[in-house]
Amino acid sequence: MTFPNLSLAILLFAIHTATSAACLNQRVSLQVLGSGGPELDDGRNSAGYVIWVNGKARLVVDAGSGTSAAFGNAKADFADIQAILLTHLHVDHAQDLPAFIKGSFFTARDENLLVLGPDGNQRMPATTQYIERLFGSQGAFPYLSDYVTPKQQNDYHIIAKNIPLAKEQIVTHAVSKDISVSATPVHHGPIAAIAWKVETMGCTLVFSGDTSNEYKVLPDFAKHADVFIANTAIPENAGVAAKNLHMTPTEIAQIAQKAKVKKLVLSHFMNRSLSKQPFIYKTVTKLFSGPVVLAEDGMRVSL
Ligand SMILES: [Zn+2]
Repeated sequence: MTFPNLSLAILLFAIHTATSAACLNQRVSLQVLGSGGPELDDGRNSAGYVIWVNGKARLVVDAGSGTSAAFGNAKADFADIQAILLTHLHVDHAQDLPAFIKGSFFTARDENLLVLGPDGNQRMPATTQYIERLFGSQGAFPYLSDYVTPKQQNDYHIIAKNIPLAKEQIVTHAVSKDISVSATPVHHGPIAAIAWKVETMGCTLVFSGDTSNEYKVLPDFAKHADVFIANTAIPENAGVAAKNLHMTPTEIAQIAQKAKVKKLVLSHFMNRSLSKQPFIYKTVTKLFSGPVVLAEDGMRVSL
């Protein structure tokens, strides 16, 4: 009698062990809040994503303009968010942060909110300074200062942390028992910028952020990712200045191929790349053998 039960237990253990290493992709998905850039006439929200885990919106990655409204349209609940990850502090990636925080007043949120973003450099403030300049008592929105210096017991607090910019350094944070995030600095001209990796339920999602890939860290950082979200702000024939800030479609495809990512999402289009989408898609699919998705606002991407 005990022998079959023991076999069953071993079998169940084996199944569990096998599936815990694989991506439980039924439980995780990516939703695009904004797939555009900073332009006013590109018809898209600026950069932003939400990651759903077990039916709950758990992470926001970038918070460009329009993303807070898109978050509501996605029926996501801000009380469920465990962290906001920022790739850098350009307007098209960080502008809606105050809108999210003010909007959270009307939700049931009472858990502290982790906001992780790059440390500062000569051109950009650190993420902690950005938060202070927005919500501090001397900031742009002093009426929201309770979020950085809570006066009442039931106020939640923003916990901001800076990711150091030392090249090739990878910093990892456990956001919850199910979600771990890692960041590594990337080259985005003179701007302090990082790429993000999110690991949850055995699945890995990597966000390039805006980068020229001059540091060449992404093929390793994105190794075997289930989805790689690559910012596609320029076409192949862009000028030198634009290439100092952004990857070309060929570079994106080469990174994805080298990293053997399982799915590539092209996002963060600007008019100059949006108008050449068919050509970009052709270029990328020639060099990358996996599936390629052209992001659109509101799109839900399965892993
Ligand atoms: Zn950008």
